[in-house]
Amino acid sequence: MTRVADAFTYQALPMRVVFGSGRLQELPEEAARLGLGRVMVLSTPGRRDLAESAASLLTGRAAGVFAGARMHVPADVAAAARDEIRRMGADGCVAVGGGSTIGLGKAIALDSGLPVIAVPTTYAGSEMTPIWGLTEAGRKRTGRDPAVLPRTVIYDPELTFGLPVDVSGTSGLNAMAHAVEALYAPDTSPVIALFAEQGIRSLAAALPAIAARPGDPAARHSALRGAWLCGACLGATTMSLHHQLCHVLGGNFDLPHAPTHAVLLPYVAVYNLPAAPIADGVVRRALESPDPAHALAELGAAVGAPRSLGDLGLREADLPAVVDQVLDRPYANPAALTRHGLTTLLTAALNGTPPHGPLETERPSQWKSPDEPPSAHRRPQREFS
Ligand code: NAD
Repeated sequence: MTRVADAFTYQALPMRVVFGSGRLQELPEEAARLGLGRVMVLSTPGRRDLAESAASLLTGRAAGVFAGARMHVPADVAAAARDEIRRMGADGCVAVGGGSTIGLGKAIALDSGLPVIAVPTTYAGSEMTPIWGLTEAGRKRTGRDPAVLPRTVIYDPELTFGLPVDVSGTSGLNAMAHAVEALYAPDTSPVIALFAEQGIRSLAAALPAIAARPGDPAARHSALRGAWLCGACLGATTMSLHHQLCHVLGGNFDLPHAPTHAVLLPYVAVYNLPAAPIADGVVRRALESPDPAHALAELGAAVGAPRSLGDLGLREADLPAVVDQVLDRPYANPAALTRHGLTTLLTAALNGTPPHGPLETERPSQWKSPDEPPSAHRRPQREFS
């Protein structure tokens, strides 16, 4: 059988998205729609008040609040939450918060099969994916399982008005990284290309506006809509070098999740986009820039994101171990993964050397549409300057 170059497979994920200001109020109806009678509300300790408000909306359907969620889902926290759920006889969870809280809901679903309603309050995107993670003895295990995909996601921009500007900026760049990598994923598709372009465009416009006016309703609405689209990209495709580097740096060097994404994205764009011309064209169009790496770095600066891996605590002596781990089990990637290339990328990111993309100021006409076939043209990869 001959496979044509534009063949693709797209598997839509079975979930319901409820989006709009004030729509958290519809939580009781959404719980009823799933047939839930006793629901445990999850949050981090800092968001207990919001979890209590959600529980009060649920009135007779609320089983209680577990406000112990922590970053990277420690296995003992997941076990404590499961015990509490059993003790209270809950038949489902509502995870109100960022990726840490939604991750706890997924860990509970992985073990028990209980349905999760996600109410995201950051832009990280976990609510749109079947990806779970659990950390035990300093090691984070991850996997994909349809059982952990939230059944319903309620996006209420009002819940993000108080999200601190620095967390908004870094988690927004975390979301954009999902979309950029989805565009050159081995399992990308025309649907995902549309989601990715719109998601990147929404966040690129909204994040600087949020930095200037954190409570701006229009900017918050646009950022959360972008986060939804970018999260859907993560849920539907296989990630590449950028996510692998973040996984290694978070898992083995304890670098913070969203700031690491924010620092690395422009450097990975320089490395990968020249080898992925269609993705490159879409990212240029979405960012309205002939130099995506530079535009992404400018965006990071505009939202006050950290500038370098050195700022996050990585040392030059750590780089060979990072490179070894990437090369040991490389993810699929559009550009060849070489020791020299990865060391150059990481050294630039370690020092915060300004990244610059290809010199062309005009996009060749064959890149105008994401659904046109790839050009045979491959520009040589540029070194960091
Ligand atoms: P987070 O959930 O840890 O939240 C960061 C901090 O912001 C927390 O202290 C939280 O309480 C606070 N916060 C959240 N929303 C707030 C709001 N609206 N107002 C004020 N404070 C608020 O951070 P995150 O970046 O959303 O998630 C990171 C975690 O998610 C990582 O563990 C990462 O691995 C995981 N993640 C998983 C997936 C996936 O598909 N499985 C995708 C993305 C991220």
